[in-house]
Amino acid sequence: VGRLLIVLGDQLDAQAAAFDGFDAGRDTVWMAEVAEESTHVWSAKPRIVLFLAAMRHFAEALRNAGRPLRYTRLDAPGNRGTLAAQLQADIEDLRPAGLVLTAPGDWRVLQAIKAVAAAAGLPLDLREDRHFFGTVRHFAAHARAHGGALRLEVFYREQRQRHGILMEPDDPAQALGGRWNFDTENRRPFPASGPVALPSPLRFSPDAITREVIALVETRFADHPGETAAFDWPVNRAQALQALDDFIAHRLPNFGPHQDAMWPGRPWLWHAQLSAALNLKLLDPREVVAAAVKAHADGRAPLPSVEGFVRQILGWREYVRGVYWTQMPGYQDLNVLDAHEPLPAWYWTGDTDMACLRDAIGQTLRHGYAHHIQRLMVTGLFAQLLGVEPVQVHAWYLSVYVDAVEWVEMPNTLGMSQYADGGLMGSKPYVASGRYIERMSPACKSCRYRPAESVGDDACPFTTLYWDFLLRHRALLAGHPRLEHQLRSADRLDAQQRAAIKQRSAAIRRGELGQGADQPPAEP
Ligand code: FAD
Ligand code: SF4
Repeated sequence: VGRLLIVLGDQLDAQAAAFDGFDAGRDTVWMAEVAEESTHVWSAKPRIVLFLAAMRHFAEALRNAGRPLRYTRLDAPGNRGTLAAQLQADIEDLRPAGLVLTAPGDWRVLQAIKAVAAAAGLPLDLREDRHFFGTVRHFAAHARAHGGALRLEVFYREQRQRHGILMEPDDPAQALGGRWNFDTENRRPFPASGPVALPSPLRFSPDAITREVIALVETRFADHPGETAAFDWPVNRAQALQALDDFIAHRLPNFGPHQDAMWPGRPWLWHAQLSAALNLKLLDPREVVAAAVKAHADGRAPLPSVEGFVRQILGWREYVRGVYWTQMPGYQDLNVLDAHEPLPAWYWTGDTDMACLRDAIGQTLRHGYAHHIQRLMVTGLFAQLLGVEPVQVHAWYLSVYVDAVEWVEMPNTLGMSQYADGGLMGSKPYVASGRYIERMSPACKSCRYRPAESVGDDACPFTTLYWDFLLRHRALLAGHPRLEHQLRSADRLDAQQRAAIKQRSAAIRRGELGQGADQPPAEP
């Protein structure tokens, strides 16, 4: 054959650069389902199903478009099990003149493919990933221009101006509506009565292709965490576009005000649920942002909600990709807080008597989904306060979410949530006690612990560990302007309180508290 055009599981975009100049008379598309991608971290079943189902739907579309395709299924006899070994075997069989690849998202995968190309003596034509608004080069230049000091807010404002998004029409340097940030409007808890008039998001029941994948995953990865019974994510571009329309019409208008709020048993709230479709490249971030901006221009969605949403995609998503690719490979080993505790086993089952964690982990295993604040301020916060080794936290996040791909997961986990990078990505550790969760969720009302208490039998483990964290890291955090108030409060604890906090924290670390024995099951 001519060239082998490699399409990875998270590159399901027929408009990607790798397809430029594709010659159906000579070239062949190469795709492979390999066990390694589900086992290098203990990938949860919903995530495996999504990747395989989306790959098979994309392959079907390629075949329908008449594109020659070498596709290896997971259960194909002789499947080599890893991307590198399968590619090598197919190169030996097909004898292509060269390889073509859109720049992959993962550092690990890029190294593996480069090594195969070098060993086979084949040229590798590595092309820009046009999916993103900006390039990694642009991000690196931005970082250099700011002396290496990264801040989302600075980057995000530059992005708005550079791409002319939500800017005043007669003054393109000015933010639309005169404000860059609506955080004060956008961070509210729900009223005591809870979220009202919640729309049911559009879900997609599995078709024959997806059902076949579910059966395969249930057999082949039977011992992996998570469930497939409720699987209903969009798995092709047409469904992803429907999911986008559904979000814009029914949830975007209310997205902002309760973006950070939680309600047990209600996993979706007003969130977009578009991250998986975006990360598989079924959706283009430009069309997603444009749809939100248009909804505002047409008077269908208020500015604070639209700005809050655009910030996530034009700001955070591009920013974490820049952090990942400018910092790898060293980034994955960072552990500034010198944390070495193991991840509690109940992270894989949700079997804990802490109500907030039980709810967040339960829905994660059922759907492969939790929203940002559940990830940051419940599962992430607890691991950070406990002092779990960052690489174990990273492996968990990369395993359990349907949208988990390393370039976006790793900076969010190691940087934003665990502070393992010492503040390179976020400005301060996101540390809080159980009182924060009590403000944002009614979970504490049905919990056996009391969020305001740090010692005693009913003390909330978050609150105990919060004070322990501040005391343990006092020296490292000193002088941090945004933590001054919290550190001053910790300084006021007397010797007796400190000893009690230390003792109870040690009991939590030994697993004597927070276990789920004799507790009710996860929220339905
Ligand atoms: P919404 O809340 O509706 O947001 C809209 C979109 O903005 C998302 O679809 C997503 O594409 C983007 N977005 C929002 N926040 C972020 C962010 N912090 N970084 C990058 N993009 C963002 N997101 C992933 O896509 N994959 C991951 O593996 C992932 N791991 C995370 C791990 C931790 C510890 C934390 C704190 C966050 C992580 N996030 C990850 C970011 C965020 O939680 C998810 O993007 C979001 O919850 C997805 O749900 P949604 O589509 O309903 O998002
Ligand atoms: Fe979570 Fe503590 Fe509230 Fe229980 S009391 S739900 S453990 S924050």
